[in-house]
Amino acid sequence: MARSPKQYDIVIIGGGPAGLTAGMYTSRARLKSLLIERGAVGGQIINAQWVENYPGFAEPVSGIDLTEAMHKQATGFGLETLVAEVTGIKTKGKQKVVTTSQGDLTARAVIIASGSERQKLGVPGEAEYTGRGVSYCATCDGAFFRDKPVVVVGGGNAALTEALELTKFASKIVVIHRRNELRATKILQEKALAEPNIEVMWDTVVDEIAGETFVDRVKVHNVKTGKESVLEVSGVFMAVGFKPNTAFLKGVVDLDDIGTVVTGNRMETSAPGIFAVGDVRSNSIRQVVAAAGDGAVAAINAEKYITG
Ligand SMILES: Cc1cc2nc3c(=O)[nH]c(=O)nc-3n(C[C@H](O)[C@H](O)[C@H](O)COP(=O)(O)OP(=O)(O)OC[C@H]3O[C@@H](n4cnc5c(N)ncnc54)[C@H](O)[C@@H]3O)c2cc1C
Repeated sequence: MARSPKQYDIVIIGGGPAGLTAGMYTSRARLKSLLIERGAVGGQIINAQWVENYPGFAEPVSGIDLTEAMHKQATGFGLETLVAEVTGIKTKGKQKVVTTSQGDLTARAVIIASGSERQKLGVPGEAEYTGRGVSYCATCDGAFFRDKPVVVVGGGNAALTEALELTKFASKIVVIHRRNELRATKILQEKALAEPNIEVMWDTVVDEIAGETFVDRVKVHNVKTGKESVLEVSGVFMAVGFKPNTAFLKGVVDLDDIGTVVTGNRMETSAPGIFAVGDVRSNSIRQVVAAAGDGAVAAINAEKYITG
């Protein structure tokens, strides 16, 4: 006889800061809670050597230490963790059936905290120097490049937003763009191009990122003339796009045009009993503190949903 799926009050999908905070709140509220993570618990922030902008830490804390502490706190209240990949969610009466690589589970409410991935450029040196000069987040890492020259790769809103953020710190910012016009909104272009320390290198692509221990140069070439050059910089900010982890959510909840989950201010999605938090939701500011805040909001509203 087939075993019936294990039942929970709340299933949380994703073990980054959003999911861990949601799990801490729901398990502390005495709801039987399961967090499902397909990789290492901690989420994207485990790639950050130092986090300087999470409240309560006067000294920088490593992303690993921060999320290990979050996990310990949540499991201390009874949160269970399962290493598995979620592949679908279905509503069956008042229950949600969550399909995973380890079998089905049921829950009275689901919190999606599956985050996003930053698109990689895929050039030599990118992986090697990530965290040692290569960054995907100016808000996170800009302050490490005070009075140093940097490049930003990309030509859309994200690239110019990153470049503008970097004007607070970097001595010079070169935006490397593969076309001869930017895709960013006009207003952002005007703002960025008016900055004396922002310069755009048109029709240019990055070939290689190099250095000793840390990045010290970037090799580029002009796609029209073929001319190669080397820029001496300390930082490379990649702004070539985000990919939300929502492939398993198509037809389950409403997604916006970039594939992130549309939520209301209680973190509710278009499907009753399913909430979404952190980087995976529309208009997220993609920061740990915001992910944690979303997790708390969703947990409290999921509890209200369950208890009626
Ligand atoms: C290098 C780097 C440095 C950063 N530095 C900072 C910083 O200094 N300060 C700051 O505030 N923010 C920083 N950020 C941003 C921060 O990491 C994110 O905003 C934050 O991690 C988002 O948390 P989250 O829980 O929403 O999602 P994530 O951290 O992305 O976690 C989502 C988790 O869900 C899992 N998952 C996805 N799909 C599935 C599935 N189908 N089944 C099971 N599990 C799944 C993923 O494996 C992942 O572990 C940095 C990001 C990077 C990459």
